[in-house]
Amino acid sequence: MQNNPNTTLVTPTAPITAKTHGGRAKCLQRLARLDLPVPTTVALSFDAVLDIAKGHFPDIDAILTQFPPEALLCVRPSSEDPDWGGPSAVLNIGMNDQRFETLCGTLGVDAATALFSRFVQSYAIHVDRLDPDMFDDIEGEGTDALHRALEAYESETETPFPTTRAAQLTGVLKSMARAWEGTSARLLRQAKGAPADAGLGLVIQQMAFGMGHGESGSGVLQLVSSKTGKPQITGRYLRQSQGRDALSGDAASLYITRDPRGPSLEEHVPDAFAQLVAHARQMRQKLREEMQVEFTIENGQLHILDGVRVARSSRATVRIAVELARDGIIPTQEALMRVEPRALNELLHRQVDRHAKRDVIGSGIAASPGAATGRVVFTATDAQASAARREDCILVRRETAPEDIRGMHAASAVITERGGVTSHAAVIGRGIGLPCVVGVSDMRFEPSKGKLIANDGRVISAGDVITVDGTNGTILLGAPEMQEAALDDAFNALMEWADAERDIGIRANADTPADAQTARNFDAQGIGLCRTEHMFFEPGRLTVMREMIFAETSDDRRAVLERLLPMQRDDFTQLFRIMQGKPVCIRLFDPPLHEFLPTDRNGQRELADALDLPLSDVTRRIEEMAEYNPMLGMRGVRMGITVPEIYDMQARAIFEATVEASRESDPVVPEIMIPLVSAKREVELVRSRIDGVAAAVATEQHVKFDYRLGVMVETPRAALRAGEIAQHCSFLSFGTNDLTQMTYGLSRDDAGRFMSDYVRQEVFAEDPFHSLDVEGVGELLQLGSARGRAAQPDLTLSICGEHGGNPESIAFCRQAGFDYVSCSPFRVPVARLAAAQLAISHKIG
Ligand code: PEP
Ligand code: MG
Repeated sequence: MQNNPNTTLVTPTAPITAKTHGGRAKCLQRLARLDLPVPTTVALSFDAVLDIAKGHFPDIDAILTQFPPEALLCVRPSSEDPDWGGPSAVLNIGMNDQRFETLCGTLGVDAATALFSRFVQSYAIHVDRLDPDMFDDIEGEGTDALHRALEAYESETETPFPTTRAAQLTGVLKSMARAWEGTSARLLRQAKGAPADAGLGLVIQQMAFGMGHGESGSGVLQLVSSKTGKPQITGRYLRQSQGRDALSGDAASLYITRDPRGPSLEEHVPDAFAQLVAHARQMRQKLREEMQVEFTIENGQLHILDGVRVARSSRATVRIAVELARDGIIPTQEALMRVEPRALNELLHRQVDRHAKRDVIGSGIAASPGAATGRVVFTATDAQASAARREDCILVRRETAPEDIRGMHAASAVITERGGVTSHAAVIGRGIGLPCVVGVSDMRFEPSKGKLIANDGRVISAGDVITVDGTNGTILLGAPEMQEAALDDAFNALMEWADAERDIGIRANADTPADAQTARNFDAQGIGLCRTEHMFFEPGRLTVMREMIFAETSDDRRAVLERLLPMQRDDFTQLFRIMQGKPVCIRLFDPPLHEFLPTDRNGQRELADALDLPLSDVTRRIEEMAEYNPMLGMRGVRMGITVPEIYDMQARAIFEATVEASRESDPVVPEIMIPLVSAKREVELVRSRIDGVAAAVATEQHVKFDYRLGVMVETPRAALRAGEIAQHCSFLSFGTNDLTQMTYGLSRDDAGRFMSDYVRQEVFAEDPFHSLDVEGVGELLQLGSARGRAAQPDLTLSICGEHGGNPESIAFCRQAGFDYVSCSPFRVPVARLAAAQLAISHKIG
């Protein structure tokens, strides 16, 4: 038995691994190695349990010989990763009339009856799958109630309750093995990241009673807070109890440490408390992990039944990993590897300001932290349409399903009427760092009517602004003041260690001084993409921009551009100042001009007023400028070539800001990027004008400065012709949003209509706008970078599309020899950690 690979007695040297017997079995072996008081345990391997599910049982009698004949047993699941769950534990196997009699003598009638009743019920529910309600009508306690429970069992199953330990154990093992193979268990664990063929091990352990004479009870203890990860001994202990009863909210539960709110284990059973804390510390040290200790005290005697990884929030995950490394228990590299990069999202998100006024209209389960404000939409398609308009929205659904994922990505937050902490919306929301409240049962959801009715009767319609506070599970009307994410010393330490490991640069996409500040706060190494057109969507500036677009002659246009110049110069000066010498890559105007023009009648009338033109002139010009296919029309460098004054103005603004910012600090070397290039001649033409502007500014201001010119590779042709394009510039940055659009011939703004069908039917493995298509678009990236570098070995290579913050895309870019990735500011820490993990994996092979 001791060395049987399938039914193994847990000893310090038995052949047990997490991969063959599961995490719990492995942990129990480690506890045995530490010589902790662990009851006798036999571990069944994944193979043994799979065989049981198929009807082939191990030698049950041989297993039972490992335990004293009178011992009661429990069976618990042991999956490879404890987070994948498993069937519920069954306690007190072996209970029958004979044992009952004996236990009445040793533990007392009450305790023996409680044990037997508990066993009958759990056997009925877990093994025979009977409805738990069938025991509801059994009133009272004591032996009468026990007999009624047995009778209820026998009348429901029409069989006598099994009496031998072997028969009971066989029944329990069979039900657990089959439950693991069931569809719902499979889906649940796959949602938690388990592979389709994940195995289940089982551990059979001798019961240590938390009931009986003397000090008896059970409980759990851990050394840190699950919420913050900071040192704090927590847990509960309940006298005369078993399993995790102490956590069931029973008012009689004792606190673990002295507590003003009530009695504690520390005061009442100080010896056991001291031993427990010592064992927990030993486990932390030797198991190199924060563990929750599950224990039983039987007649004053402490037993350690199990140790499980302390459940933890993302914030606590970081703190725990960092503290273990600071204490020298694990190396910093391991601490870095223990934090899933996307988990950092939870630390990074904005929250509703503590002091803000809250107009609460509903509440539910806080499923994913952070807060966001937006307009209510009721479908994933509407969420995507909002995102395309760059408008924040809150997706409101009864519940979400996989086809809502694109909509969730597009939304700022999600609320659902149904669901719990492990429901689809919650799991996905946490995964992508999207504030999410589920199970909002105190609001009425009427999606077909486009309505959400608050608990006090107020009606919220599609388009109304609400705020979702995913941290405390509330929904607020309007847009309360927000507080930016708080980053603590553990987070900063982890980020510092990450920076020491990684070998690819991380910059941020930042369009405004506020974005740049966030990028700085997250220690981005520069700005990789400043979309300058975003600086002109503010109302005051929009009018000037429109005047520029409407200018009839070159001179008129130049006059308006002179008014735009100081605005842009100020923007750039601020960006340079905030970034304090770190590189700032400014992309020249990209969108089609008509995007700046009003589409509705009112807007057009306002524009006519502002320009003092007849309305008909305005509408005619707008119609003239309309394109059949604006994304492939007069945008990016094409506009720069045909209306060169705009780029001239921008170049001047950049150089004047360079001169100004360089006066106060080290010389600024701006990076200027040309969008939507497809031919080298475009670069030549723009370059010569920009050189001209640079020379003019240098002469006027009597200063010298450098600048770097780069090309955004967003068209397949630019990637293919990167060799000749690279000869005219010092960097290439791959804009994978447009490159994906043009490689697939798939509109970024319309693909949502059929993307879910495509993904469902496995035409695409993933939405390529979300997850870089490494085969197709990736091949263009590889071709472009190789051809560019062959022509110009010093060429800087980067990616600045949305994929830049995605850990899988970072792996691809690092492999392709890119210098940096650029992503939205909030994704910078995720990218820094992901990059560090890639470098560590590379180093350790
Ligand atoms: C891109 O196309 O990848 C890009 C970064 O530019 P934009 O999203 O502004 O088109
Ligand atoms: Mg683009």
